Amino acid sequence: MSYKILDGKKTSLSIQQEIAEEVNKIVEAGGKRPHLSAVLVGNDPASKAYVGHKVKACKVVGFESSIVERPSNITENELLQIVEELNNSEEVDGFIVQLPLPSHIDSQKVIEAVSPSKDVDGFHPENVGKMSLGLSTFKPATPAGVMTLLERHGVKTEGMHAVVIGRSDIVGNPMSALLRMNTEPGNCTVTQCHSRTVDLMSHTLQADLLITAIGKPHFVTADMVKEGVVIVDVGINRIDDPSRKSGSRLTGDVDFENVAPKCSWITPVPGGVGPMTIATLLENTLRAANDRS
Ligand code: NAP
Repeated sequence: MSYKILDGKKTSLSIQQEIAEEVNKIVEAGGKRPHLSAVLVGNDPASKAYVGHKVKACKVVGFESSIVERPSNITENELLQIVEELNNSEEVDGFIVQLPLPSHIDSQKVIEAVSPSKDVDGFHPENVGKMSLGLSTFKPATPAGVMTLLERHGVKTEGMHAVVIGRSDIVGNPMSALLRMNTEPGNCTVTQCHSRTVDLMSHTLQADLLITAIGKPHFVTADMVKEGVVIVDVGINRIDDPSRKSGSRLTGDVDFENVAPKCSWITPVPGGVGPMTIATLLENTLRAANDRS
């Protein structure tokens, strides 16, 4: 089967272009540029890179951005204080606290301290609850980005059997919730799998739409999927690659080379879901700014 690419890079650039045009209009009308802030705790290289990408994207669309950087030995109270300051800031429209946080900090407590009106990651229980009910709110950037990616490529998901592998609060759970909504994309019959699922392959073989959010390189192999499946690979894994100058490269949860020929549509990694996550975060920030003005 000749497969088509769900091109997250191109789609993200189109969305950024649309946002930049809206920001121009706001500024020309005398309004304030939307401002996204990111709280970065510690020295995790991946977290630093993700925050760097987000700040760079802010520049592209004309947002203000700021990073609040603190060492990994920051106390929970100090971090909660920063969250409170950002909640009360007149300047900042939306902010994220980059996860994971050091183990001595209760991440859930921090997530719940973020004002729901500035929670552009969509992680606060109030926003999660609204999303689960199908109410208008900030949706978590990665699964919402997947929905936009499907929509913008004209992939009709109504009636599909969607199989989601993963049950994290940031990807697997909200992804399943969005796919079963009475929306387009959406209207799927959803099976959600995780590490305790018995005979995973019996589920993946039924998938018309397979979403992988596992964090294991090349976990999904060609024998696990049926012909014509649509695959969205959320996984980002770093593997050794001596042919690269850096000695490593990023890859997904799916063995792309062998699985893609069975697909109708598939995301590449990188260049699939990652850029869509950033585009959605920008959309959420624009919305937060518009709600406040
Ligand atoms: P996570 O919290 O570690 O969740 C991984 C999920 O995979 C868990 O629910 C786990 O099951 C399940 N799992 C692990 N091994 C399995 C197995 N052998 N069979 C079936 N299920 C298995 O990770 P996450 O935060 O959701 O992220 C998942 C991946 O997506 C990572 O590679 C991450 O880097 C990537 N990611 C990408 C983006 C993006 O923008 N593209 C954004 C966020 C995350 P249990 O619950 O039973 O442990």
